[in-house]
Amino acid sequence: SRLVEGLTKTRNNIASVFDDIFSGFSSIDDDFYEELEEVLVMADIGIHTTEMIIEDLKVKVKENHLKEPAECREYLIHSIKEQMAVTEGAYEFENKKTVMLIIGVNGVGKTTSVGKLAGQYKNAGKKVLLAAADTFRAGAIEQLVEWSHRAGVDVIAGQEGSDPAAVVFDAVAAAKARNTDILICDTAGRLHNKKNLMEELKKINRIIDREYPDAFRETMIVLDGTTGQNALVQAKQFKEVADITGIILTKLDGTAKGGIAIAIQSELGVPVKYIGIGEKIEDLQKFDSDSFVDALFQ
Ligand code: GDP
Repeated sequence: SRLVEGLTKTRNNIASVFDDIFSGFSSIDDDFYEELEEVLVMADIGIHTTEMIIEDLKVKVKENHLKEPAECREYLIHSIKEQMAVTEGAYEFENKKTVMLIIGVNGVGKTTSVGKLAGQYKNAGKKVLLAAADTFRAGAIEQLVEWSHRAGVDVIAGQEGSDPAAVVFDAVAAAKARNTDILICDTAGRLHNKKNLMEELKKINRIIDREYPDAFRETMIVLDGTTGQNALVQAKQFKEVADITGIILTKLDGTAKGGIAIAIQSELGVPVKYIGIGEKIEDLQKFDSDSFVDALFQ
């Protein structure tokens, strides 16, 4: 499938070592667990999450009286899936009038993801509107306008350097007037001035609350999967300033450490809702943890 193909780098990184462990050890002992832990950490699943997965596996080994390392394989995959299922994402916004804020630092793939989402929801028969509220980054507005043409949806944009909250105000008014299903707002990605960013996001949220109180709200953070554990750090910083409801994890096609999706979801307690596995519109995929884990380990 496209998913398996998109995750080739991570799969190649994990698969052979993974197979070696299950065939290379003759008993389930400390060495076996240590080696297993190393492989999971190497795939960027994260120390904390890996430890929980191994602990869970140890319980299952005991309960089921497992003797052979090879017998552990299915239990391990099941443990990873369970670990992820705790924070399974819902896609409620698909059935309600929704305002979606897209946040994240520059370069992670925010504008691209907004464009891809717009194209997909438009193709699914939704009425989509975009708001170009990243008025700070040079070129961000034109880039979004370009994507709006590609996706065949309208965009509300102001001048570069103008007040992002004013753009959102206009976009909300337009969304209501046009009976839009999903209004997707691209926002600025500066993080060097946290107070500033926090105030800006607050102001945008206040305007939506006041002008469109019945709208269903989503705040998606976009994270670059190739930055590994740094993505996790970024997400934690943004979590302090915004009520994040979902994660869009991009560029997983460009990394051998796609296990970061597992770490991020379980360590933040926020569901990964979309993953980016390429440049095309259809390369932004709804995230399903079961298929993801299968694509990496089966
Ligand atoms: P922004 O600054 O956060 O708005 O980032 P952009 O949307 O401009 O994206 C930065 C670069 O990442 C662009 O060249 C995109 O084409 C690329 N990109 C975004 N998502 C993906 C993905 O899932 N896979 C790959 N390979 N590239 C991506």
